[in-house]
Amino acid sequence: MSEELLYAGKAKSIYSSDKADELIVVFRDDITAFDGGRKDVIPGKGEYNAKVSARLYALLEEHGVPTHLLALEGPVRMRVRRLTMLPLEVIVRNIAAGSLVRNYPFVEGSPLDPPLIVIDFKDDSRHDPMLNDEIILALGLVTQQELEELKQLARRVNEVLRDLLAGLGIQLVDFKIEFGRDVDGRIRLGDEISMDSMRLWDSRTGASLDKDVYRFEKGDVLSTYGQVAARILGGE
Ligand code: 5GP
Repeated sequence: MSEELLYAGKAKSIYSSDKADELIVVFRDDITAFDGGRKDVIPGKGEYNAKVSARLYALLEEHGVPTHLLALEGPVRMRVRRLTMLPLEVIVRNIAAGSLVRNYPFVEGSPLDPPLIVIDFKDDSRHDPMLNDEIILALGLVTQQELEELKQLARRVNEVLRDLLAGLGIQLVDFKIEFGRDVDGRIRLGDEISMDSMRLWDSRTGASLDKDVYRFEKGDVLSTYGQVAARILGGE
């Protein structure tokens, strides 16, 4: 089976592979913000996100979190298990920031203990509205048991990533992950975990080290992503 483009998202493209139950994810250099309202191309960004995602998925697998990762097959190509994705954005927040402080009376920078888990409906045309358990179940998106599993996995992902990043001098403020069901119906982490989907602050200076640099024009996006990738990938 030759590689055929199945889906092009805002920053990644998904291709079929030589195996029916495996796909190829290509991390592109495109970057967008505000529901695609701003778009740019930052040569080199795709490679940083692919490498960071692969490293974080491998670490999560070591800690018992099932992911779609099979192998990184080139600078921007990741071979993954085919998943049927759930239209959910599971967001974990350790520190109040972003839409949480825009929409609710939280003070930016205040710790959230225990971390907050928020689930949004992945639908750009509706601006990804926040869901609650009742809406998720009424829409039949997952079962009650799967919903509990998603939250438990999200908490575990948070613990693993927060510990790793803290040791690298980075605060994990919040992040967004997406899940899908594999061919056996098992829930696995899909999509990506990268500087596009995490909010990261330098522990010492408080500087943004993520897509907020692009969203709010805080500095050089590629060099920021490069610095984070270097810290996460270490001597790789
Ligand atoms: P917020 O709700 O504050 O805008 O975002 C919370 C966290 O989830 C941030 O780390 C943000 O990068 C991530 N996030 C939320 N929605 C999306 C999205 O549609 N795409 C990506 N890549 N990340 C998102």
